Amino acid sequence: LEGIHLVPLLPDRDLSLARLADSLRASFRLPVSVDQLPVPVEEAYDASRRQYHSGHLLMLILRHAPAGNGKILGVTSRDLFIPVLTHVFGQAQLNNRAAVFSSFRLRNDLYGLRHSHALLRERSLKEAMHELGHTFGLRHCSGGPCVMNPSTYVEDIDLKPAEFCLTCHTTVFPSQTSIQTGP
Ligand SMILES: [Zn+2]
Ligand SMILES: [Zn+2]
Repeated sequence: LEGIHLVPLLPDRDLSLARLADSLRASFRLPVSVDQLPVPVEEAYDASRRQYHSGHLLMLILRHAPAGNGKILGVTSRDLFIPVLTHVFGQAQLNNRAAVFSSFRLRNDLYGLRHSHALLRERSLKEAMHELGHTFGLRHCSGGPCVMNPSTYVEDIDLKPAEFCLTCHTTVFPSQTSIQTGP
């Protein structure tokens, strides 16, 4: 099991995972597929917070992942948290296999604004790239505009590009980066 696998975990109906997979394929230049895994998402639900524990979800994803080295990105519409924060957009294992992101806080209508498919799609792509970047060993980046810039608010996501900066890109794709030399 190589490449990148998008796993729907109660995803937003307004978000096309096939289209997200196409975008990720273009960005990472790796095989990307959408695969079902029997992850019991409800086990990560915290009734007192009415949110889903993202670390618990990562553990469940790993437990149900087929053997191999492929990256597994869970895509959910449920609101995620870690105990020390009110919410997270996503979480990933650094330099390992499992990641998850939530579209819950990526929808304009959550903030009383008109729903935008385009914004939902763009923000989801950035969060998917960001969490996958962590699985490829990237930490948060503050060296310039980069999809690995950290995001606290949805506005932060809108400000960063759906691209890795050169430093991050070289780390994720050492073999794809050619250095131009010449006269
Ligand atoms: Zn991050
Ligand atoms: Zn960067």
